[in-house]
Amino acid sequence: MPEIQEAPVGSLTSMRLPSKGYAAMAPSEKLVPWNFTRRLPRPHDVLVEIKYCGICHTDIHFIRNDFGMSTYPLVPGHEMVGIVKEIGDKVSKFKVGDTVGIGCLVDSCRECENCKQDLEQYCVNGPSFTYISPEKHGDGIIPGGYSNQIVCDEDFVLRVANHLPLERVAPLLCAGITTYSPLRRSNVGKGQKVGVVGLGGLGHMGVKLAAAMGAEVTVLSTSASKAADAAGLGAHKFILTNDEEQVKSVQLYFDFILNTLAADHDYNFYLSMLKSRGTMACVGVPHEPAHIPAANLIWNGKSVAGSLIGGIAETQEMLDFCAAHNITADIELINIKDIEKAFERIEKKDVKFRFVIDIATIE
Ligand SMILES: [Zn+2]
Ligand SMILES: [Zn+2]
Repeated sequence: MPEIQEAPVGSLTSMRLPSKGYAAMAPSEKLVPWNFTRRLPRPHDVLVEIKYCGICHTDIHFIRNDFGMSTYPLVPGHEMVGIVKEIGDKVSKFKVGDTVGIGCLVDSCRECENCKQDLEQYCVNGPSFTYISPEKHGDGIIPGGYSNQIVCDEDFVLRVANHLPLERVAPLLCAGITTYSPLRRSNVGKGQKVGVVGLGGLGHMGVKLAAAMGAEVTVLSTSASKAADAAGLGAHKFILTNDEEQVKSVQLYFDFILNTLAADHDYNFYLSMLKSRGTMACVGVPHEPAHIPAANLIWNGKSVAGSLIGGIAETQEMLDFCAAHNITADIELINIKDIEKAFERIEKKDVKFRFVIDIATIE
């Protein structure tokens, strides 16, 4: 990550912003406190003091270099909320003191067909994902949100309502938009039946959002102990997927299934629960490829879809929707010193439903 090394003294680029955070220095190493620098705000940049940052399972994958594309030192975190501390002279959307969020996207080409349609996450020239890919103006990879501050182009900064507890808003920036976007794309609403598979960080947001959109929401789980959680989150029904009778009762039942499972599983099991012309959207990434006989899609005109976060405009729409419906994530707030314990508990699925780091605990 050349952008965080000290430039030669006397050069313009040595004027950078001292920042502090937690970083993995090499694959699979424990996170350690790390002092680094960020770029000074450019004319269109906003400097944000980060207050809270959610912990996404993706952070753990990148710390371990599971996708073979991590660079170190790596500061994870793409579910940030905070306060604007400083703005560049051409910034028009924000002022000092505003409450804002920054998620998985920090830049894109802004010129391609997808960028022009507010689908920056699918930028054909490669979107700039927080802590993963280089941003477009030569500053390299932007370290993520496990840190005290961040500098980002205003076009990739989101407005956050003041009346919601900020620590519970943070996970909306990834888990919220990841589930909101496929629900919206399938026009989920009143009179529709939605199944949610998997009740983790993503699934719990899917339940809240689909219920707020007016759909009848069913949680599908192998664990009877999840029934109470599902009801608490606003689900109308619960199906124990290892109970044959219960599974039979939801054959050809759902208009839409949000499949958040990241563990290997049989997609056909859930496809059988879709109504004719129904869609199952997948947002989890199991290791094994899905084996789906074409006939399982053809006979009732069913679709399997994938979805990756959402564009900036849709992320703002999601935040506004959540503000209007008082929707936030269910979280456990942690001290950064307990980060490794939190990672272990995420792996064991022992969290209801998202860990969020209190950034004030970074010393
Ligand atoms: Zn994420
Ligand atoms: Zn683009």
